[in-house]
Amino acid sequence: MPTITMDNSSTHVARFTWLEINLTGVVENFLLAQKNVGNKVKVFPVVKADGYGLGALPISRALVAAGAPGLCVGLVEEAEELRQGGIEVPLIVFAGLTPGTEQFIIDLDLTPFIYTLDAAKALNNLAVALNKKVSCYIKVDTGMGRIGFSQKEFVSAIKEIKTMPGIKIAGLVSHLSCSDEEQNGEVTNKQIDTMQEILTAPELVEVNQGFNSLANSGGILYHPNSHMKWVRPGIMLYGASPAYPRLTSKHDGVVGVVNWFSRIIQITQVSAGTPLGYGHSYTTNKTSKIAQIPVGYGDGYSRSLSNKGYVLIAGIKAPIVGRVCMDITAVDVTDIPDAKVGSLVTILGKDGSQQISIEMMASWLDTIPYEVICNIGKRVPRYYPSKK
Ligand SMILES: *Cc1c(COP(=O)(O)O)cnc(C)c1O
Repeated sequence: MPTITMDNSSTHVARFTWLEINLTGVVENFLLAQKNVGNKVKVFPVVKADGYGLGALPISRALVAAGAPGLCVGLVEEAEELRQGGIEVPLIVFAGLTPGTEQFIIDLDLTPFIYTLDAAKALNNLAVALNKKVSCYIKVDTGMGRIGFSQKEFVSAIKEIKTMPGIKIAGLVSHLSCSDEEQNGEVTNKQIDTMQEILTAPELVEVNQGFNSLANSGGILYHPNSHMKWVRPGIMLYGASPAYPRLTSKHDGVVGVVNWFSRIIQITQVSAGTPLGYGHSYTTNKTSKIAQIPVGYGDGYSRSLSNKGYVLIAGIKAPIVGRVCMDITAVDVTDIPDAKVGSLVTILGKDGSQQISIEMMASWLDTIPYEVICNIGKRVPRYYPSKK
C-alpha cells in the first residue's frame, strides 16, 4: 500500500487527498525519449505549467540529475522558479518573451523563442545597453497556425534580426500540429519539408548556430524524420500518450507516474429512494452504502465527473453518485465490504488489478490527458516517494 512520505520540515497536516509522483518513472520516460531519438539528438524536457501540474521543481531536479542538458518552460516566471530552486542548465522559454520580461530574460540567463520583431527589438535594445548577447531561437510557423514568423515574413525578419548585436540565433524552431497522428503523417511531413526549406534560406544560414528543433512527444514517438538537433518531450514524460484517444501510453511504452489518492471520511447506509447531494441529481434505487471522499472541484476533480466515472477502493470500482462538490464527492460502496472510514481511495493510478489511467479520466471528461493533470488543484499536496 502506498505510504505518505511527509516532508519532516512541513508544518502542514497531512491531507486526506494527495498526489504521489514517481520521479523514477519520469526519468524512465525521459530515457525512452532519448532512446527514440538516438544519442546524437538532445532531449530538453518540457516542464511548463508547473511540470504539467505535477511539480516543476522536483521533476526538473530529477531530470537534470538524470542528464537532461536543458529544460523548457512556457513563461519567464516558471524559469525564475527553477533558477531560484538551483536549476542551472539552459532554460528555454516558449512564448514568454512579452514586453517587460527582457530584464528577467537577461538576469536569469534564459533562452527565449522569438516570434515577433518587436520582441526581438526590445530584447536587443536592453542587451546592447547592458553589453550582453542573448541566445535566442527563431520561431517559425511551418503549419501549426499559431505563433511564429510566417514563411512570408521570415526572410525579412531574419534580415532585420541579423543586424541586432544583442541577439545570437541559436537555432530555428517550429511546432508540430498533428504529430499525434501515428499513421497519417502527411501534415507532419509537410511541416518537416517546410522547415527544411526555411533552413536553407541564405540569410539564415549565415547566422544560424544550427541547434534546430521541431519535435514534441508525438514527433519523438511517431516521426523519426522530425527529430533534428534537439527535441521537446512533454506529455510522454508524465506517463500519458500524445495520441489519445487513438493510442494509449501502453502502446507508446511510457510508464505511468501519477497516483492520486484519498481516504474515506464517512460511510452512511441509506435506504432505496434516498436523494443524494446538490440538486438531488442521484437517487438510490436500493439500500446503499455511500462513502464520502474529501476531494472535489476545489481540487481540480471536475464537476463534470458527477454521476460519471469511478474511484477504486480495495481494488474494486466505486461509482461516483450525485454531484461532485467543491470539497466532497460521494461514491457507492455497497458492493465493497472492505470499504471503511480511512480506507485508501485511488482516484488516478493502480489498485490491485484495476487502474484508472489519465487517459481514462480524460475520456470521462471528454478532454485530453494534458488537461486532466494540469487541472489537479494546488490544494492537493504533492509527494515524491523515493522508491516503491
Ligand atoms: C507544450 C509544448 C511541447 C511539448 O508538447 P507535448 O505534446 O506535451 O510533448 C513542445 N513544444 C512546444 C512549443 C510546446 O508548447
